[in-house]
Amino acid sequence: MGVRRLIIGNWKMHKMIEESSSFVKNLLPFLPSLQTEEVGLAVPYTHIYPLAQQAKDSPLWIGAQNMNDAAEGAFTGEISGKMLKDAGAQFVLLGHSERRHLYGEDEACIHRKLKRAVEVGLRPILCIGETAEEYDMGQTPVVIERQLTEGLRDFEPVQLQQLIIAYEPVWAIGKGHSATPEVAQEAHHFCREVLAKILTEECARDMIIQYGGSVNSTNAHELLAQPDIDGLLIGGASLSLESFCCILNTFKLVGTPPPIEAEESTMESQ
Ligand code: PEP
Repeated sequence: MGVRRLIIGNWKMHKMIEESSSFVKNLLPFLPSLQTEEVGLAVPYTHIYPLAQQAKDSPLWIGAQNMNDAAEGAFTGEISGKMLKDAGAQFVLLGHSERRHLYGEDEACIHRKLKRAVEVGLRPILCIGETAEEYDMGQTPVVIERQLTEGLRDFEPVQLQQLIIAYEPVWAIGKGHSATPEVAQEAHHFCREVLAKILTEECARDMIIQYGGSVNSTNAHELLAQPDIDGLLIGGASLSLESFCCILNTFKLVGTPPPIEAEESTMESQ
């Protein structure tokens, strides 16, 4: 698959076009110093076209934060995957916890969006993760297994070669405290086991699984050093060029990841 480390900034509903463009202008010269890694920005819809033009022929991926599952039609205010692709988006976040919890997106809706994204050739980043209550009740494996199984049903493994998973515990998003590296590693390892069960061992081994939830320049290094954490999805800390570049620098500190070894998970599916 090539890419083994991927850092994506999720700007949510922040920044005007001019400010975004100056961010990208200053970010681009920094990227060639990274080697086996990729960097992307999930930006507001109106920013996709100008930023994708600006980032053309560069290692920077520009993507969207959501899309509608329909191909086209009378859906006032919505945007299709084909439109995003036409505007220059390379990837799309699907099932982000804010979409699930603020806009009521359920597993069936996210599954339909994933189908459409694959059909139009947009690289999907499927966001999964448990709430604080679920975490406290020890339900993390149940939630991970359900979200992956329902999201990825009715796909052939070959159709999901471009898929990226982002494990984002809801209790860590925007809270200022991330999951510990150990907790995150355990969940990521479990994700890989579920992926092996519903796709193939090979797919599971090659799948990029990002961690998201209050990542900053202080905790990024330890998180990225975990064997099953292949990248980061970053909200708040991606808004400032300085903190985003600090996090990108941790790629260099961590170096090339070692091959993933098969080992038993301590997390039991219930
Ligand atoms: C996110 O929204 O995907 C996210 C991880 O946000 P934050 O980094 O601010 O917790």
